[in-house]
Amino acid sequence: MKEKIKAILEKYQIDATRLIDILHEVMDEFGFISAETITLLSNDLRISEAQVKETISFYHFFSDKPRAKYNVFLNNSITSCLRGFEHVKEAFEIESGVKFGNVSEDGLIGLYVTSCIGMNDQGPAAIINDKIFTNLTPYRAKEIIKGIKQGKKVEELIYEANGDGNNAHPLMNTMIINNIRRKSLLLDDNYEKFEVTKNLISKYSPQEIIQIVEESNLRGRGGAGFPTGLKWKFGSKMPGEHRVIICNADEGEPGTFKDRVILTQYNDLVFEGMVIAAYATAADMGVLYLRYEYRYMLEFLNSQLDYMRNNNLLGNSINGIKDFNFDIRIQLGAGAYICGEESALIESMEGKRGEPRDKPPFPVERGYLNYPTIVNNVETLASAVRIIKNGAEWYKTFGTSDSLGTKLLSVSGDCRFPGIYEVEWGVSIKEVLDMAGAENVQAVQVGGPSGTLVNVQDKENHSKTDLMKWYKPSGMMASRKAYDRKISYSDMATGGSIIIFNKSRDILHDVVMNFMDFFIEESCGSCSTCRNLPYIMKQKLLKIINGHGVREDIDDLLNWGKIIKVSRCGLGQTAANPILSSILNFRHLYEEHVKAMTDYDNQFELADSVSAANSFVGRKFIHHNS
Ligand code: SF4
Repeated sequence: MKEKIKAILEKYQIDATRLIDILHEVMDEFGFISAETITLLSNDLRISEAQVKETISFYHFFSDKPRAKYNVFLNNSITSCLRGFEHVKEAFEIESGVKFGNVSEDGLIGLYVTSCIGMNDQGPAAIINDKIFTNLTPYRAKEIIKGIKQGKKVEELIYEANGDGNNAHPLMNTMIINNIRRKSLLLDDNYEKFEVTKNLISKYSPQEIIQIVEESNLRGRGGAGFPTGLKWKFGSKMPGEHRVIICNADEGEPGTFKDRVILTQYNDLVFEGMVIAAYATAADMGVLYLRYEYRYMLEFLNSQLDYMRNNNLLGNSINGIKDFNFDIRIQLGAGAYICGEESALIESMEGKRGEPRDKPPFPVERGYLNYPTIVNNVETLASAVRIIKNGAEWYKTFGTSDSLGTKLLSVSGDCRFPGIYEVEWGVSIKEVLDMAGAENVQAVQVGGPSGTLVNVQDKENHSKTDLMKWYKPSGMMASRKAYDRKISYSDMATGGSIIIFNKSRDILHDVVMNFMDFFIEESCGSCSTCRNLPYIMKQKLLKIINGHGVREDIDDLLNWGKIIKVSRCGLGQTAANPILSSILNFRHLYEEHVKAMTDYDNQFELADSVSAANSFVGRKFIHHNS
């Protein structure tokens, strides 16, 4: 055992900043990270045992207790729940004889629940030993367990043919479907692989590349919307021995899966975007941070990088350009939603818990290993390639005046055509619902749990932007018609998640509670507000749903929604949004629940209630008027 640990450490040059990779290798080799291993790692890496333990405990896919030979991670995101999660869960438990959260006595089967795995359009889905199983049913769950008990390999448990496109590539062999429903300028197949790097990049100086991206007004597609050209410009001016380009492929917002499809089908655009960013900023280090849930594509993506190295598209003097040296490695995450936040992602890349850093300094000043670091989203980098190829003026002909270009939407929930839609910014909610074949719609969640719950039945709605304004003393904002709402930075900004709910859904009990559970599970725990308030608010919501709430409870929720805003990062700052957004746009549901309690309050007679007890002990009821 010691020899194996030693070999793993040497593979990573006994470098503590590579602790995540080291722990992955230990998990692969031994199935868990034992106390003895923790001591060995601590001694050799010259960090405390506490540091090793705190990193292990932070991530869903690490364990200091033995995991099973077959580990089922069943996804519990809202669309999975709408499509039979509970029945599938029950089938796994009955057939295996194991309760979720446990491993069978013989160590064969482990069952776990996990947050969104990027398969909202084909759930319920699970990860079993890094293989993805989509469209699960109770029957399929039972067949999987039977197969495991018969000694089948995980590949032999697959019940559907390979998926489409590169999902069927021999290095992936997965049943996942891309579900690309609508293409525009980004997903346009009329593209010669790496043609910008081969033919165009040398015609421009780095400053000219930045200028083109600035003129296009390309903004970060992860959700924050920071101007990409400006980020590149800042990064290019920061002093440092090295400069780093990170592609953030840690999409974890429930309901988002567009980066999965880009990485599967258009990864050449993403890697080329990283090369262009490196050229523009004189960066020499590149890292693609891949969420653990997408580990099934790791080998495939590495083969693409090998192709680039073999064709002088990575390495030294790329495409013959003097002093343009740049390479990319893939850093695998380990299961933590918060690592989508850029500074948390960098902490994770350095082998630590993925807790967001205080800012400033911003990553662009001091990021990965303290080098100036530019973090861009998958879709942003792919878009940059199209812009350099066709020019800023061309790009500006798409979208709206404040939101240029196109946006990839991940559409799921109650609709006939879930999948990826590339739309121009400015598309209305109604157009999206029509495209997706959604009928009888009650609500649309725009931007994932941290976004806005739009009420499609009523004509008036408040958005996330309204929520932000509402926190200011000026009070409530005027509401707007739901169907008029546009997907744009000035109206309804989104990283891409669109989840549709029809009229049969219980918005408070099923949807809002699920979203609150997500935030409770994913808080890194650093801030007391984010650690405690989502749980307390959920309990208060439960009280209301169960018919024990009063109107003051709604006021409490609104007030706590303001307090949580002091949290350090976006996760905590938006963790109350499912409740706040539903109070603003589905107030009637809350009113229905508290109404009964108000009536009960009016009818409550203390004397009647205690009369039996009084007569039993021979006591008179005395009423004191104050
Ligand atoms: Fe961690 Fe939440 Fe604080 Fe963000 S807001 S740093 S996730 S505790």
